[in-house]
Amino acid sequence: MVTEEIKLNEFLGEHRIESIETDLGEYIQQLDEEPPYHIVTPAMHKSKEDVAKLFSAKLGTAPNLSPQQLTLVARDILRKKYTAAEVGVTGANFIISDTGSVAVTENEGNARLSCAFPKVHIVVVGIEKVIPSLKDLGLFWPLLSTYGTGQKITVYNSIISGPRQPNETDGPEEMYVILLDNGRTSILQNPVQRESLYCIRCGACLNVCPVYKNIGGHTYGTTYSGPIGSVITPNLKGQEDFKHLSYASSLCGACTQVCSVKINLHELLLDNRKASVQEGQHAFAENMAWKIWKLSSLKRSIMNLGNGNIKNKIVNSIFKGWKANRSELDFSKKTFNEMWMDRFKR
Ligand code: SF4
Repeated sequence: MVTEEIKLNEFLGEHRIESIETDLGEYIQQLDEEPPYHIVTPAMHKSKEDVAKLFSAKLGTAPNLSPQQLTLVARDILRKKYTAAEVGVTGANFIISDTGSVAVTENEGNARLSCAFPKVHIVVVGIEKVIPSLKDLGLFWPLLSTYGTGQKITVYNSIISGPRQPNETDGPEEMYVILLDNGRTSILQNPVQRESLYCIRCGACLNVCPVYKNIGGHTYGTTYSGPIGSVITPNLKGQEDFKHLSYASSLCGACTQVCSVKINLHELLLDNRKASVQEGQHAFAENMAWKIWKLSSLKRSIMNLGNGNIKNKIVNSIFKGWKANRSELDFSKKTFNEMWMDRFKR
């Protein structure tokens, strides 16, 4: 995901360097020229038939291959690439501070092959991934696998502490670790938002989010989608262009409830909204509309005025922004106050 964040593939392509995704889901997405749909399962929106059609169109295979056959096609192509590639690039799930190692967790063995065959291994990893000690993996590995994919432990867990040594048979001749900030220190400086850096990208908050489940990962238009994406993107890339993500939430709190590292996600969404207002990121018309709403709400005689059709017409003509993506507001013929008075005849 971090190489998605910095658009590494596009950059390499512009410099005529071939780069191939080796995770099967990422490979499918790359073939389809689409970004990942989900931070853990990038092609989860595609059926096996979609993938068979895609392979047929891009790789010339029969259009009705089974998932097993499709996997073998991808494996055959990728295996040749591992041995021919000059550079293997991986991310890291954790950076282990006491041993100076990186820990990579995966289910397909592709990252392990990417750092075993090529002469150079480059790790691109966000600075928030540092954990104090090797023994902390005893907590984080099972946490990531159970919350991420429901496995007790992920299939391949590698700890890499440097390039190949004289007595070793595989591994790169050179290894580089690139620590990516890209806005993370500005989150760290924010005493409220800094807890979003605890995220281990397990994807659990996406899986339970009613908004993500309805709109899907691509609608966000961001590298990180779902609740965590809506929390961190406005802080990484600015409220001006991404504040809307914090508003696209029912604040049901399902994300907070499920988060493997107990990030208060829905509270952080609220904090983002507050920050965007404090930054003055709202239109004059919206500010005026809320002022009128507040004035009216505080005065019972105004609230009870023109119920039903008249109120519908006035309010819907003022709140045009609301109507752009939603149905019109429809007020009842009587306010709650009037209904209460009717019922109890006071
Ligand atoms: S915010 Fe929590 S639940 Fe969501 S991806 Fe990060 S660690 Fe997982």
